[in-house]
This record gives sequence, structure tokens and C-alpha cells, in this order.
Amino acid sequence: MLKLDGATVRFGGRAVLDDVGLDVAEHEIVCVLGPSGSGKSTLLRAVAGLQHLDDGRVFLDGRDLDGVPAHKRGVGLMFQDHQLFPQRDVAGNVAFGLRMHGESKQRQTVRVGELLALVGLPGAQGRAVASLSGGEQQRVALARALAPRPRLLMLDEPLGQLDRSLRERLVVELRELFGELGTTVLAVTHDQGEAFALADRVVVMRDGRIAQSGTPLEVWQRPADEFVARFLGFEN
Ligand code: ATP
Ligand code: MG
Repeated sequence: MLKLDGATVRFGGRAVLDDVGLDVAEHEIVCVLGPSGSGKSTLLRAVAGLQHLDDGRVFLDGRDLDGVPAHKRGVGLMFQDHQLFPQRDVAGNVAFGLRMHGESKQRQTVRVGELLALVGLPGAQGRAVASLSGGEQQRVALARALAPRPRLLMLDEPLGQLDRSLRERLVVELRELFGELGTTVLAVTHDQGEAFALADRVVVMRDGRIAQSGTPLEVWQRPADEFVARFLGFEN
């Protein structure tokens, strides 16, 4: 359902996304792994319409997204630093995505309750964002990203601020959730355990290019090159 063809982004002459081709099938969960600075966030931002491509194209369901503004792309993006609105309460943050889609007040209230229950924060509507832990804030950001029911959801380090045990639990819950909702997911993480547990397919990036793409098992058993092997933590 998502296709990138020769996607290239340059900053000051340097290609931080370098001729990237990627196909994501409907309902597939793809995790992008790679070192800091390898272009993972840039890739998501380009698909979301927040980053202009210098070359190449992005297609969603066969439609060329060139010139389509971010809010008309039908994709959800949860940012790396989740960017909640501190002056709004939890409900106000989650409802943000709904208001933009013109839902009635009453419908919004019901949906916000459903979404908070979904991410394991039932009853948190009236809480101030500042009173939430990092992990709770990430769940609110996830609920906000899910609110408009995007067919394609992109998550940038969705569990980055959580401790290991909470991460491990949430990964399982998220996989189930995405399956139930039929959401196609493109997620960035630098935690390979998380990627391997969440993904149907893993994409490893290096210097703006895709070094390897395959099922978690394939990548684990047959790293494409020394870089991938080393990144996965194999010695020699
Ligand atoms: P991290 O794991 O640290 O989040 P990343 O893989 O998400 O890294 P990107 O944020 O995509 O990396 O950045 C890729 C490269 O592009 C980096 O070297 C970064 O400094 C550079 N870059 C990103 N945005 C800009 C910008 N607006 N102007 C100049 N350089 C940029
Ligand atoms: Mg990033």
C-alpha cells in the first residue's frame, strides 16, 4: 500500500536519504532499524509530507503523494519526542486528531474514552500532561496518532522512553492492537529486540540507504553484510 521509489533528501549537498526504494504491504508491520543519523526519522517525515523530497516519489495505494499536503495524506505520525500539547489535558491532546477530521463534540468524547482504554490509560481524560510519566505520555501520543484511524501509522521510537519490562509488554499489546485495527505500520526504533518482536519485516538503514530488508529471522540468520552483522551485535 506504501511505495517509495528512489526517495532522496539532501541537506547541504549530503544525501541523508539516498535513493531509497521500499514497499510496505497492507497490514504489514515494518520496523526500521539503524544507527543514529542514518535517516530513519527523515524517511518517516518524507512519507508523512513533512519533508520535501529532492528526488524520487512516494505512492500510497498507487497515488503519487507529490504535492499532497501532510494533513491530506491519510497517514498518522507519532514523533520521536511525542510533542504533546502541554497546555491541554489528556483528552484535549487525543481529541486533536479528531477535531481536525470534523467529528462532533459528542462523538469525540466517546472516541477519546475508547482510545485511552485501548492504550491502557482508562479514565485519564482530565489529567494534565505534565503530571504524566514519560511512558504515560507516550501512550497518550499513541492514542492521538491512532485517533483519526490512519490506514498507515508511522511511529518514531514509540517506546523510546519506557523501561525494558514495560516496553516488552507494550510491544506485545501493540502487535495485537494493530492486528485488530488492521493498521499498516512503519515504525522506527534503534532497539533491535523491539523491532524483532514487533515487526513482520525489518529494514536496516545505513547512511541514508537500505542495507537490508527481510523478516526478523532472515536478518538475524543471514545479515546482508558486515555492517548489518556488526549492528546486530555479532563479533566478526
Ligand atoms: P536518530 O536515531 O538519532 O533519531 P535518525 O536515523 O532518525 O537518527 P535523521 O533524523 O533522519 O536520523 O537524520 C539523518 C541525518 O540528516 C542526520 O545526520 C541529521 O543531522 C541530518 N538532518 C536531519 N534533518 C536535518 C535538517 N533539517 N537540516 C540539516 N540536516 C538534517
Ligand atoms: Mg530519528
